Amino acid sequence: MMHIDCAIIGGGPAGLSAALVLGRSRRHVLLFDDNRPRNAVTRESHGFITRDGVKPSEFRAIAHQDIARYPSVTVKSQRVTEVRHSGRGSFHVRTGDGIVYHSRTIILAAGLKESLPAVPQIQDYYGKSLFSCPYCDGWELRDKPLVVIGESGSHAVSLAKFVYNWSKDLVVCTNGRQVLTQEQLAMFARKGIRVQSQRIRALKGSGGQLQSVQFEDGSEIKRAGGFVSPKWRHAIDFGEKLGCAMNEHGGLVKDEYGRTTVRGVYAAGDGALITPAQLIIAAGDGSRAALGVNGDIVNEDFDR
Ligand SMILES: Cc1cc2nc3c(=O)[nH]c(=O)nc-3n(C[C@H](O)[C@H](O)[C@H](O)COP(=O)(O)OP(=O)(O)OC[C@H]3O[C@@H](n4cnc5c(N)ncnc54)[C@H](O)[C@@H]3O)c2cc1C
Repeated sequence: MMHIDCAIIGGGPAGLSAALVLGRSRRHVLLFDDNRPRNAVTRESHGFITRDGVKPSEFRAIAHQDIARYPSVTVKSQRVTEVRHSGRGSFHVRTGDGIVYHSRTIILAAGLKESLPAVPQIQDYYGKSLFSCPYCDGWELRDKPLVVIGESGSHAVSLAKFVYNWSKDLVVCTNGRQVLTQEQLAMFARKGIRVQSQRIRALKGSGGQLQSVQFEDGSEIKRAGGFVSPKWRHAIDFGEKLGCAMNEHGGLVKDEYGRTTVRGVYAAGDGALITPAQLIIAAGDGSRAALGVNGDIVNEDFDR
């Protein structure tokens, strides 16, 4: 069994950034990644200073080049299937190929999984002309005729409010659900935002570029793109299984250095927050978790 200082589960910006900092701290690290990030559906990532507009695959390739300079870091393209306490204050990490690794610490950085609203063909457009984060993609859709799809009243309202910052030409669709209150409808009317509560029959366009939205009565509205409100869940449940406390939103309780309530287990990135953030925030979070891991090991070993 291989013994390492830190097993990082997830090779998105959080895990990659943690690996870089730990490699530079001379820690023996295994980074496990099955390469199925949420943002794989999109062509460009925005808002990461020095990398604005980078392809997600290019971002990862550059990160792997950076990490490759540090010999104590190894990337394993494997899915982690189980993490258990080893009984000696450390952990056993099992991968899909059945190999078990022994690690002093764990960083959970596996991101989120999302379920999109139940709209036919939505997957064809998501990440191309329909997005979930206005900070990530609002600029590219500025001033265009947009649709906002939210199946709960609170999500539809909060998303529409934000998207309104980038385009005033909005149609809010609740996809067959009567979820908006009279006050919310009046607020949208005041802002010139139209509301359509009929079920969406089809999204129409080509090559991922939305052109129109068709409703169940056959009526159609032309739209050049838009935003949807997905539901998010943790990609992994290892935190709960290891006994980490959860916060009221379903995220992992952690301190500013990513330490969860279980000694030796750290968390970083979208999965720790349970709300999606941004690449740069996830990367910063991974970096802080790495400082936590290294700082704790330095103190433990120095005081021995
Ligand atoms: C459509 C879309 C567009 C976006 N656009 C932008 C943008 O323009 N700008 C921006 O800043 N942000 C954008 N984001 C958000 C950004 O992608 C995330 O905030 C960021 O990737 C989160 O990083 P992370 O490291 O926490 O998780 P992720 O990037 O999701 O990485 C998690 C990794 O862990 C791996 N993993 C999961 N479970 C396991 C396991 N059991 N074993 C091994 N590996 C595992 C996954 O395969 C994945 O590679 C976008 C997101 C989406 C969905």
